Amino acid sequence: MDRPTLILDADDTLWENNIFYEDAADAFAERMAQEGFDPAEARRTFDRIEHERVAVVGYAPSEFARCMVITYRYLCRRYGRTAHPEVEAEVEAIGQRVMDYPIILLEGVEETIPRLHRRFRLILLTKGDPQVQHDKVVRSGLAPYFEAIHVVPEKGPEVLEDLIERHGLDRRRTWMVGNSPRSDINPALQVGIGAIYIPYKKPWAFEEAPFVDPDRVVTLRRFSELLDLFPDAEEEG
Ligand SMILES: [Mg+2]
Repeated sequence: MDRPTLILDADDTLWENNIFYEDAADAFAERMAQEGFDPAEARRTFDRIEHERVAVVGYAPSEFARCMVITYRYLCRRYGRTAHPEVEAEVEAIGQRVMDYPIILLEGVEETIPRLHRRFRLILLTKGDPQVQHDKVVRSGLAPYFEAIHVVPEKGPEVLEDLIERHGLDRRRTWMVGNSPRSDINPALQVGIGAIYIPYKKPWAFEEAPFVDPDRVVTLRRFSELLDLFPDAEEEG
């Protein structure tokens, strides 16, 4: 019998991601405080504008930096102030810190992935800028364990349907593993494959959503617990 399949998310499932974005957003709010704006309002405004823009421009880190400049200009307009090009440049540099953050694998990932590789077909599914995401996969050192790596602009049930078709996956023996209710878990529930949720310690508010079918979600505390979930899966090789 063909081995079962795990479709794995990458950011905040295999490695740290959102903490770098949170740190940059906090630094932006502090910089706005130096300009005399309320840092809490600056942070709230940034989050709102970012969520609105993601639907239009996608998830590229350069857009995250751009969003800080847009937020600064918005605050200036709102309070009748002039936006200064030198502050804009500084603010953009704060946002650009997320462009090439170090890959820090989450607890247990480095030891667990090779063992999962012997038991399952592993497919990586991540959303975002293709070049940025591929670079991160390469830097993670995990690429050799995946039979396929897919970078898509946005995740949803239609993307999973496409993977099922392309890789000839059996829905009863395929699980999506990820930290995002919106992008990983709900699409899996919608197409009728298994859904394994591993919450990240500092989630991005944009990714939170109620589960469409909570009874079918398996929640794990850490990545290595995937090995205990499938005790019957044979290790090969
Ligand atoms: Mg994720």
